[in-house]
Amino acid sequence: MTKALLEIKNLETFYGPIQAVRGITLEVEQGKITTILGGNGAGKTTILKTISATLVPQKGTITFEGKEIQHLEPNQIVEYGISHVPEGREIFPLLTVKENLILGAYLRKDRVGIQRDLALVYDYFPVLQERENQQAGYLSGGQQQMIAIGRALMARPKLMLLDEPSLGLSPLLVKEIFEIILRMNTEEKVSILLVEQNAKIALKMGSYGYVLEVGRIVMEDTCTKLLTNENIEEFYLGTQEEGSQGKRRWKKRKTWA
Ligand code: ATP
Repeated sequence: MTKALLEIKNLETFYGPIQAVRGITLEVEQGKITTILGGNGAGKTTILKTISATLVPQKGTITFEGKEIQHLEPNQIVEYGISHVPEGREIFPLLTVKENLILGAYLRKDRVGIQRDLALVYDYFPVLQERENQQAGYLSGGQQQMIAIGRALMARPKLMLLDEPSLGLSPLLVKEIFEIILRMNTEEKVSILLVEQNAKIALKMGSYGYVLEVGRIVMEDTCTKLLTNENIEEFYLGTQEEGSQGKRRWKKRKTWA
């Protein structure tokens, strides 16, 4: 019997009168990569923001390691062991690369551990060490994505929420970033909830996947099965192996059933 690290039940999240998440139930298994696929505006980002307490849900529960966390503050969520790498990275452009990374450890007191994790981030992304004293805003999009992932790793998370890490990156960088994500998962035992525009990469990386449409889950299965599901093939458009310079496009579905 596998153990769920994160369990979401009947989650509903609104932006004012607009309901973005309409009763989502999903699980992230301990040690696994779970992925959420879906078109623009399906509610993927909203789910991640609700988990990390950027948004407060109107209904439903979010349980992490057996404790309900849906009413906690963002800093408590980080303390519990959940790090969020947001869409668009949200790094601090005027701070140096190193300062950005150290900010990820702002709740930690273990200096030795922080230094060890900084070395780990530099091992994953050597270019960040080469440029550690430069202002982060001068780095390329791919390098800024490395900072965002590195910063999240600096919190020593048990679960990392990754929102579209491949967005706007070249195919080579996408490959590099995903190799590191896989290493974080296997070597550091970080469980991952991945929202990704590149369905094929996400399904190859992940073990279980959910397909979201207009705030609802319309399909879920092991990634192996989703990869060969004809609806996924039929409805997904755009480049698969390569990174995309823009948003993915999903054909308007006829029906998932
Ligand atoms: P994308 O990949 O395009 O970011 P998504 O699946 O992540 O899509 P969300 O960003 O979660 O989707 O958006 C879900 C719904 O909530 C959409 O209808 C969107 O227009 C709406 N929404 C998102 N942010 C806001 C906001 N700040 N105010 C009002 N509505 C919002």
